[in-house]
Amino acid sequence: MSVHKVIVIGGACAGYTAAIYTARARLRPLCIEGLAYGGQLMTTSEVENFPGFPKGIHGPDLMQNMRDQAERFGTEFLSRDVTRVDFSARPFKVHVEDDVHEAHSVIVATGAGPRKLGLPSEKRLWAKGVSSCATCDGAFFREKVVMVAGGGDSAMEEANFLTRFASKVYLVHRRDEFRSSKIMLDRARANPKIEFILSTTVEEILGVDHVTGVRLKSHRTGESFELAIDGFFLAIGHIPNTSFLAGAIDLDPEGYVLVHDGTCTSVTGVFAGGDCVDHRYRQAITAAGMGCMAAIDCERHLEALHL
Ligand code: NAP
Repeated sequence: MSVHKVIVIGGACAGYTAAIYTARARLRPLCIEGLAYGGQLMTTSEVENFPGFPKGIHGPDLMQNMRDQAERFGTEFLSRDVTRVDFSARPFKVHVEDDVHEAHSVIVATGAGPRKLGLPSEKRLWAKGVSSCATCDGAFFREKVVMVAGGGDSAMEEANFLTRFASKVYLVHRRDEFRSSKIMLDRARANPKIEFILSTTVEEILGVDHVTGVRLKSHRTGESFELAIDGFFLAIGHIPNTSFLAGAIDLDPEGYVLVHDGTCTSVTGVFAGGDCVDHRYRQAITAAGMGCMAAIDCERHLEALHL
């Protein structure tokens, strides 16, 4: 079995960008892109904030373009999920079920997914009024009524952001205490377009082919009630796709990959970038930027080893 110079794990903004850069550096990367390659943008309709596309671009088209670009420079793809890694000895081992792939360096770019409520209606109406990204989809709700679920900084930030477009924003939270910082909470509270609905859970999102309302249950009264809305934004946190890395590289308590000096992980020769590292910005363009950084760090590392 030949040893790859670099294996990129992940097939979305960060992974494909890392593949483009390492392929152009003649490192012939193997990109293990996952079964559900393309990442979060595959469920986004129009991307209007990725520089270079003044008229916007469909999320899946943007991903296909990045993949094509990586392929053009010689990236080899494997559309399967990594099940296990062994970084305890060199060359590193990346397992895809019973198949083992070896590499001198690895770039981890597995992304994150929005935490979901787990309702069937949430799945059915995803991208049909249900979204997890106000920055991406807020502009589609001009003069509409929307709801944000969550009680952390993301929920406050998304609710405030959505008031630029929406005529009204409900913020529903399952408790009456918040995880968000006081300043962000105060800002949301001071916004006349935001109405808080506390100690309340979402029972169902309503609508046939697009969101028309929501059924909520108040913990105070025990009663269920319905509200008419046009859009529903989840802001109940994200989950990084890193469970297969536990024990192999250092993760923070929430599972995000810890990096230092750019994109270096706790194992020399293993780099990481994108949403599996970053819970702060979480944008397509920042993930792509971190993929580029990881590729450059990786290239320099291999060069220093004369590989
Ligand atoms: P978070 O702080 O973990 O808050 C998640 C919220 O969602 C909590 O209020 C939680 O409720 C609620 N939640 C979780 N699971 C739920 C479920 N199944 N059903 C209903 N509600 C549920 O997540 P985040 O707001 O995304 O923030 C993540 C990190 O990024 C934080 O460190 C935050 O400070 C940071 N951040 C910073 C900024 C900024 O500074 N500009 C902006 C965004 C995010 P409970 O409270 O009841 O658990």
